[in-house]
Amino acid sequence: MVISYHYEAYCIPIVSMISTMEDIEQSGTLKKIGIQTETKDEVYKMAATFNRMVSKLKENSDKQRQFISDASHELKTPVTVISSFITILRRHGTQDETIAKEAIEAIYLETNRMKNLTKTLLSLAELEGSEPVDIKSVDLVSLSTALVTQFMQVYDRPIILHENSHSIFIKGDELKLKQVLIIFLDNAIKYSTDVIEVFLESDQHKGILRIKDYGIGIPEEEQSHVFERFYRVDKARKRDSGGSGLGLAIAKNIVNLHKGEIDIQSKEHAGTEIKVTFPLTN
Ligand code: ADP
Repeated sequence: MVISYHYEAYCIPIVSMISTMEDIEQSGTLKKIGIQTETKDEVYKMAATFNRMVSKLKENSDKQRQFISDASHELKTPVTVISSFITILRRHGTQDETIAKEAIEAIYLETNRMKNLTKTLLSLAELEGSEPVDIKSVDLVSLSTALVTQFMQVYDRPIILHENSHSIFIKGDELKLKQVLIIFLDNAIKYSTDVIEVFLESDQHKGILRIKDYGIGIPEEEQSHVFERFYRVDKARKRDSGGSGLGLAIAKNIVNLHKGEIDIQSKEHAGTEIKVTFPLTN
């Protein structure tokens, strides 16, 4: 009697699990197991774990689908513009010099946009799930000083660097860390017109980098989304500002690869501060 009770209790969920798994295998569609029993035995736990795994896989596959759809959409826009200017050129030939010049300029701009977007997408794909390759000791102070000087010259904007130490050494991939700083400075330049401040601090365990601007800021409800791929706050202006909505997603990936943390504080019409914390080299 006892054996048959156990057999019944275990057998039904196991049969249902096997049939769900076979279903998934045949249809290629993720499904959850229907859990009826309320007794929290091992079989119940196994089914619940299986269901959690299905949810996670589904979430990842939805994200992947969304990413492909967003990337295709982003690439479709320049292709459409290029194609319509080519139609104009074919129709009018090169006889009308003004039209020809305008078309060639637009095709040139859109091709560049596509080239940059593809480059950014490839760099994002490369980062996801990878390990930093070229690890060495990097001084955040000299890296930031060099970049700030470069940005001030190129953009003719005041950027003040405050540091509480001559050097802050962290372990990392210098090129990738440089990329993070370029993304933050680039955003601060794009979304503000006033002075930009860069703060470098360290304590016993951490190196802290803060980039502060006094620009348009980000509404509170949008702040948690800005690290998502293709997320832009100002959708209407997106093409004019030249942004792809991928910068912060890339920066977050790089910071994660370096076991760092990233945080954003922002107030609309007041400014934005991005704070990144890295573990120090022992
Ligand atoms: P983008 O290439 O569009 O700048 P990012 O991923 O770097 O993409 O940033 C995502 C969005 O976050 C931007 O489109 C912008 O709306 C907002 N954002 C990022 N940095 C700032 C900033 N310093 N000030 C105001 N808004 C910002």
